[in-house]
Amino acid sequence: MVTAQDCLKKYGPAHLEKTMVLWDVPPELEIGVIPKRIYCNRDLVQPLERAFRRLISTGQVNHLKTWDGCFNIRNKRGGRSTSLHAWGIAIDVNAAWNGFGRPPQLPQAFIQCFTHSGFDWGGTWAKPDGMHFQLSQL
Ligand SMILES: [Zn+2]
Repeated sequence: MVTAQDCLKKYGPAHLEKTMVLWDVPPELEIGVIPKRIYCNRDLVQPLERAFRRLISTGQVNHLKTWDGCFNIRNKRGGRSTSLHAWGIAIDVNAAWNGFGRPPQLPQAFIQCFTHSGFDWGGTWAKPDGMHFQLSQL
């Protein structure tokens, strides 16, 4: 699993935002609540585009109820280390139904759209973070 240390090594301090881009999401992917633009790490663009395409082609995009953000310089929920959101390589979705430490409420097929596109899912962690997907490697 990618750690804050890995990110610091590859991208430098999060506040410098050296590897961030404003991704203009292709119009054909702007379905449901998928945003038109996402400020994220350049390394997130391709995996996230793959995940969005999978969500759409499998119809799982109907389960995407809310987009709850990507870039956010902060610590991990319930932890002291820096969240991978600080480097823009993690996203949150359907936060209202997938609160930190709560049993996740996402269909398996939905989760697979991300895990098959290069993401780890927080829903399987000891303290589940069901809303959270992050790059599985840098
Ligand atoms: Zn998150």
